Amino acid sequence: MTEGAIPVARPLIGDEERAAVDRVLRSGMVVQGPEVAAFEEEFAALVEGRPCVAVNSGTSALHLGLLAAGVGPGDEVIVPSFTFAATANAVVLTGATPVFVDIEPDYFCVDPEAVAAAVTSRTVGIMPVHLYGHPADMDALRAIADRHGLALFEDACQAHLARWRGRPVGAFGDIAAFSFYPTKNMTTGEGGIVVCADETVARKVRLLRNQGMERRYANEIVGFNTRMTDIAAAIGRVQLTKLPGWTEQRQRNARYLDTELANAAPDVVVPKVAEHAEHVYHQYTVRVPDRDEVQARLAEAGVSTGVYYPIPVHRLPSYADRTGSLDLPVTERACREVISLPVHPSLSSTDLDRVVAAVAKAVAA
Ligand SMILES: *Cc1c(COP(=O)(O)O)cnc(C)c1O
Repeated sequence: MTEGAIPVARPLIGDEERAAVDRVLRSGMVVQGPEVAAFEEEFAALVEGRPCVAVNSGTSALHLGLLAAGVGPGDEVIVPSFTFAATANAVVLTGATPVFVDIEPDYFCVDPEAVAAAVTSRTVGIMPVHLYGHPADMDALRAIADRHGLALFEDACQAHLARWRGRPVGAFGDIAAFSFYPTKNMTTGEGGIVVCADETVARKVRLLRNQGMERRYANEIVGFNTRMTDIAAAIGRVQLTKLPGWTEQRQRNARYLDTELANAAPDVVVPKVAEHAEHVYHQYTVRVPDRDEVQARLAEAGVSTGVYYPIPVHRLPSYADRTGSLDLPVTERACREVISLPVHPSLSSTDLDRVVAAVAKAVAA
């Protein structure tokens, strides 16, 4: 990858994934079946053995997980606004109301003090996002949830294998959702998984996934078709075996960028990692002055970057009429300053040096 532009994300799909898909296609059993069941069991090993239910996207995982946890009309769920819209959309789709709170500036995750201040008599849950692969402060959030009798949900769509105090994210919440979209740390094409605190919730998610049926034509509740295919699960099973190595490579790349950028571009604020956090660098996100200009200069230098997120969810057209004059200054500032640099595991050392040199030049200009 030393020729041409360096992409900001790059799904790694190899011969083993192709062989696994071929095996499924030859079997003739392409819809949800044994590969999905095996994928769920193998994923469970990453989240302390909790029951897992695979679905067709991270958004479905959030939506079905919240429904299975009993969230519905009249309820409030506290969420960050500095996230992908799917976090809040999943709440709205249950009929509940997302209550947006600010983030803390160092790790870009919800600020526990803001969460505590937002609790009302209608609040039923808190849903932090482990943004960019950095876990939210699960000690503080668990304490708030317990103090007020609230559920704790996790949007872990960007945080496969991230840890808080040595425990994997996904193993803290009443439900947690992961995504397997191609730009995430592992992929199934499209896909997601719900991690459930217990078998009762998992059974409910399974029903919701499949028209409310456990036995065919014995529909118990009204549900969706949000099943994962065996084709997708077969890809995911291979990807799971590679995820630990990729994660270590992301972490090595991040350490390299930390050190080199500190020397070459001291005005760039590199990502901080909280004391009890293990960051898996779904994104390597820095703050720079004149972000849009820096991004344009990097593009000219052949370094693709991303801005996650330029507009806070509460200011999106789909939310503006619900949130009115809500002011979240730390979020707004992050939206103006953040830029995500390539950190993915297929970067060569030459690529990394090109990124550092281009950033130094773009910031100095
Ligand atoms: C990707 C993502 C989602 C949604 O996942 P999809 O698989 O794209 O539906 C939800 N929340 C966050 C924070 C994400 O990054």
